[in-house]
Amino acid sequence: MEGIAHADRSRFDPDALRTKYREERDKRLHPDGNGQYVRTDGRHARFQDDPYTPVRAREARRDDVEVLIVGGGFSGLLAAVHLKETGVRDIRIVERGGDFGGSWYWNRYPGAQCDIESYIYLPLLEETGYIPTKKYSDAPEIFAHCQRIGERYRLYDDALFHTQVRELRWDGAASRWVVTTDRGDEFKARFVCLGDGPLSQPKLPGIPGLERFRGAMFHTSRWDYSYTGGGPDGHLDGLRDKRVGIIGTGATAIQCVPYLAESAGTLCVFQRTPSSVFPRDNRDTDAAWAASLPPNWQRDRMRNFNRIASGFNEAVDLVNDGLTHVMSTLRRLPESRDGAPVPPDELERLAELRDFELMEGLRARVDAIVRDPDTAAALKPWYRLFCKRPCFNDGYLQAFNRSNVTLVDTQGKGVARLTETAAVVGDRAYELDCLIFATGFEVGTAYPRRSGFEVFGRNGVTLTEKWAGGLRSLHGLQTSGFPNCFFLGVNQGTFTPNFSHMLYEQSAHLAYIVAEVNRSGRQAVEVTQNGEDQWIDVLNSFPSTILKFQQDCTPGYYNNEGKVDQDGPRRTPSLYGGGSEAFFQILSDWRARGDMAGVRLTG
Ligand code: NDP
Repeated sequence: MEGIAHADRSRFDPDALRTKYREERDKRLHPDGNGQYVRTDGRHARFQDDPYTPVRAREARRDDVEVLIVGGGFSGLLAAVHLKETGVRDIRIVERGGDFGGSWYWNRYPGAQCDIESYIYLPLLEETGYIPTKKYSDAPEIFAHCQRIGERYRLYDDALFHTQVRELRWDGAASRWVVTTDRGDEFKARFVCLGDGPLSQPKLPGIPGLERFRGAMFHTSRWDYSYTGGGPDGHLDGLRDKRVGIIGTGATAIQCVPYLAESAGTLCVFQRTPSSVFPRDNRDTDAAWAASLPPNWQRDRMRNFNRIASGFNEAVDLVNDGLTHVMSTLRRLPESRDGAPVPPDELERLAELRDFELMEGLRARVDAIVRDPDTAAALKPWYRLFCKRPCFNDGYLQAFNRSNVTLVDTQGKGVARLTETAAVVGDRAYELDCLIFATGFEVGTAYPRRSGFEVFGRNGVTLTEKWAGGLRSLHGLQTSGFPNCFFLGVNQGTFTPNFSHMLYEQSAHLAYIVAEVNRSGRQAVEVTQNGEDQWIDVLNSFPSTILKFQQDCTPGYYNNEGKVDQDGPRRTPSLYGGGSEAFFQILSDWRARGDMAGVRLTG
């Protein structure tokens, strides 16, 4: 792959790198783990306000629907489409935002773009007849595509926007969920699908003085264009005479910093941990190529990408980009000398070496782009690549060559405090007019905290109580004691870099189950205790190499801020360890058998 350099292994010392990685990680371990962050509620609730769409008055609902879907992002849309395809008509999507789109409704910051190729990431391209205009779509195009799906499948008809579910309570006698919301609704639903996304609650850094700062402040997922001017493609004219600060250097900051750098009077980028930044090389869609695509091209392309992500040696790499390059480099299996399987230790040793080669190449790239040697040194990441989300961008590192941009390297400690007018790091105060939080979203906290509501299952048992000792489920989709309730996302299912592929498979599976319940004439479907136990046994049968990998990683949301094996939901495995290809096969085989193993129909 052009543009991604690998260092020669004779030019680095693996032991020295291991030591350096450990030192850098230890600097960043925070005693409070996830607890260091500040929630965007209570006195910080304004950080959640919707700056994009006015809230419209509406009548409260008191009716009965077949399916309630919580969340109108990719999960909710895909679930609704699959359910409609199996004949379910009465579907209500309840969504906190003012429209469909989920992450792509909220994240409108300048430069927002998908980092997975758009031809496999945007759902239902063949079904809607749409071809993205670029290899990596900008956020407005993805948001518009979500609206397209909503229109095409008539999902707007009964959607409730700007609505937060307050409680879901199972009424066993009626075999219905009773749903209450912050808009005064109290309606019933036979099935509920929870698709409210893993990265939906913005979080703030735990910095003393957050309430004192008097300048403009907002989170990247609630971009205040009324203050900055401009739009998703930049031209932020309101910032021309402003001293702007941004806290955070994750995937979001990498995308918006180049636009801030172009527009702001001055820009301070407050860094705790640098990201890895590979070249992007985005390009327009070739119309002739698009016209030549055969039927089923999108599913084939998704599958090809997923197999490469899972370590299969595919004859052709259809996506052929930086991500498939790094994934196939790290996961490629070595040739076995005598046909015997390569021992796991040897696999891990090779993966680590290849990781060092890639990361050394990446660090050399920083030197090649960033002119000031101290700034370049500070921008180099010292951890294994997949400890954090790898980033691809052609303007981020370059922005630090501008005279109006300063990297404030906090040596892994973060901003010490805020005053009324400044952010303080060490003994230096950086005077600011505007402070932007690119500090990410709540991950790994309890489900009700992130979703904003509690789920009361059979006998009033809450989901928090059910999962207090660790997640328990069948295929990550259903949990016993919670009939007719489906979870979309990463809950003991699988993870794929192309998140929408995973959601596609999950929603097809849940639609099959709902169709089977309807075909049987029964009212409800519930996982049996045995079905759940057997799935936990399957999950436990895999070696916990991922745990060891995460333990050694620099802190972040991928490893529960460095506290991998603590906190309730992590006491049972949170993923199927056999890879996504195998997981999708398990679901497909389960459907093909048609025996609904591990669940029972009632009512
Ligand atoms: P992240 O959680 O990845 O990053 C948060 C950033 O804030 C980190 O750099 C973190 O530093 C920093 N931070 C937190 N607290 C402090 C503090 N007290 N002082 C200084 N810095 C602090 O959030 P993002 O919004 O960047 O990304 C979240 C996820 O969203 C991504 O991982 C990705 O999955 C998704 N995303 C996807 C995109 C796409 O193209 N599809 C684009 C953008 C985001 P530290 O690393 O030290 O914790």
